[in-house]
Amino acid sequence: MGVRLGVLALQGDVSEHIRGFRAALGQVGEEGDLVIPVRHPDDLTGLSALAIPGGESTTISRLIQKNGLYEPLLQFKGGIFGTCAGMVLMASRVDDPRVRTLGLLDITVKRNAFGRQKESFEADISVTGLDSPYHAYFIRAPVATRAGDRVEVLARIDAGIVAVRKGPHMALAFHPELGTDLRLQRMFLERIGIQKPG
Ligand code: GLN
Repeated sequence: MGVRLGVLALQGDVSEHIRGFRAALGQVGEEGDLVIPVRHPDDLTGLSALAIPGGESTTISRLIQKNGLYEPLLQFKGGIFGTCAGMVLMASRVDDPRVRTLGLLDITVKRNAFGRQKESFEADISVTGLDSPYHAYFIRAPVATRAGDRVEVLARIDAGIVAVRKGPHMALAFHPELGTDLRLQRMFLERIGIQKPG
């Protein structure tokens, strides 16, 4: 049986994540149709990994609790790949009490860190482990203002930390699912043991 990946499908850019992971799996010779939307605890069964998409972290947080997913996500054994709102949800602390974070990564996150005048922008950033700059899309993005000792910082810009990794988990303040560069999805897949044979 091939690998199965899930995308938390409560709100946000779910279809973009499904497309991105299908394409990334295709690049390593796996079946891309094994990327499924996750809405209820049972959907997590048998998954190797889960993506938490960009969207509105306050809304996703509310729906996680409404759908009975909070505890199951804490107990989930696979890797979690969070982007933007997903990064907020994976944090241990956030500056907004409406978000009940999962605490999967020891980071402190500031929502909407770039203010109104810079709600959305693109930037070429350097990411540990990639041999050339990564073109990143930031949309009302958060930053991490602190990362604990065991959290590896993969990218930082003037405003703060924008990519981190710990064990099988990865969180990004920007949106790799919106572009065609799949290197970060591939990095995550490699981390959970899915890579091109040979
Ligand atoms: N500002 C949003 C939040 O904190 C995240 C934006 C996004 O995911 N593009 O929920």
